[in-house]
Amino acid sequence: MGRRKKMVERVTALMSDPVMIRNIGIVAHIDHGKTTLSDNLLAGAGMISKELAGRQLFMDSDAEEQERGITIDSANVSMVHEYEDKEYLINLIDTPGHVDFGGDVTRAMRAVDGAVVVIDAVEGTMPQTETVLRQALKEHVRPVLFINKVDRLINELQVDDQEMQIRLGKLIDHVNKLIKGMNEERYNAGWKVNAAEGTVAFGSALYNWAISVPMMKKTGVSFSDVFNYCREEDMKALAEKCPLHEAVNDMVIRFLPSPIDAQKGRVGAIWHGDRESGIGKQMSVADATGDVAFMVTDITMDPHAGEVSTGRLFSGSLSRGMEVYVSGASKTNRIQQVGVFMGPERLEVDAIPAGNIAAVTGLRDAFVGATVTTLEGMEPFESIKHASEPVVTVA
Ligand code: GDP
Repeated sequence: MGRRKKMVERVTALMSDPVMIRNIGIVAHIDHGKTTLSDNLLAGAGMISKELAGRQLFMDSDAEEQERGITIDSANVSMVHEYEDKEYLINLIDTPGHVDFGGDVTRAMRAVDGAVVVIDAVEGTMPQTETVLRQALKEHVRPVLFINKVDRLINELQVDDQEMQIRLGKLIDHVNKLIKGMNEERYNAGWKVNAAEGTVAFGSALYNWAISVPMMKKTGVSFSDVFNYCREEDMKALAEKCPLHEAVNDMVIRFLPSPIDAQKGRVGAIWHGDRESGIGKQMSVADATGDVAFMVTDITMDPHAGEVSTGRLFSGSLSRGMEVYVSGASKTNRIQQVGVFMGPERLEVDAIPAGNIAAVTGLRDAFVGATVTTLEGMEPFESIKHASEPVVTVA
């Protein structure tokens, strides 16, 4: 069987088993390495070639996408990762790093259940780190931390082994102070990040390596070893021993929730209908046999398929030909195509069950933030608001 066909089979099999899915975003201040990290994760999972990964294609280049002549939605990619002998599907939603795109970050946060917060080890947290972290917590999206550019600490700032660990420890403390200040309830519920437990990874997206405490135990590579590899400019060897995608994806699978685990807590934060109603209960457990409850978080134009509405399916299953209500529209819309992501490609499938990120065509009345449902009169999802947006009151 060809490589692509095999991948299609793996993705479609995992799609139907929400326990094996992680919907995540990577959030960062601009230039802290979000694109480099995303590309490397994809290459590491075998979803794009390693040669392409270094050229930062998939998360931000339109021209290359067109040249390749396939449907690439740069905002959404998926990858299959094996953890403790089981395969998982990780859906990664792109989030803009620039402060002007705060609204887009919010949209992306609505679709995911977990976030990898990327921080430059030298610069530390920056204003946009705070904004995206606040947004994640508000949307009930759990964070883990990736401290990037550790190579710069060693090779540019010339810190020694001990100083490196002290600096990293201070960064982690600072992130926890932010989490505590922004949402004490979540902090107390165990959402702080903790290196010893494994919710923090350190590394270099540029040089393709990363380490966490669980990864140290797995590989036998210590902090001093990391330091020595960087000092001796042998990061290639380090990347072989501690590949970036393994450290980060292991952390994502182990610590970020599946849709089944996440939706229990998330539904109350993003939907104000009756939790005890049929649809309320169906969304809490991501019931694929229930009514459709789909929230549109992004709309893109596809030269062949037209408008594509991407979003998160909280309950029910989406399929071709289905008639659905779109919030605010008087008539039902007919779904033309439904698709999921495979690597950077959109893959058309017959049906998509709850818990997934879905791409749908035919929703002519859809807008970003729209609720799409088979249940007439369903209370729509809370409208998407950016955390730092001023509240406008109308007299
Ligand atoms: P984004 O704006 O967050 O997407 O950041 P990019 O991924 O585009 O990275 C910004 C710059 O930092 C680029 O020049 C990268 O090559 C560089 N960079 C990314 N990761 C690392 C790293 O681990 N070490 C070093 N030294 N540079 C990095």
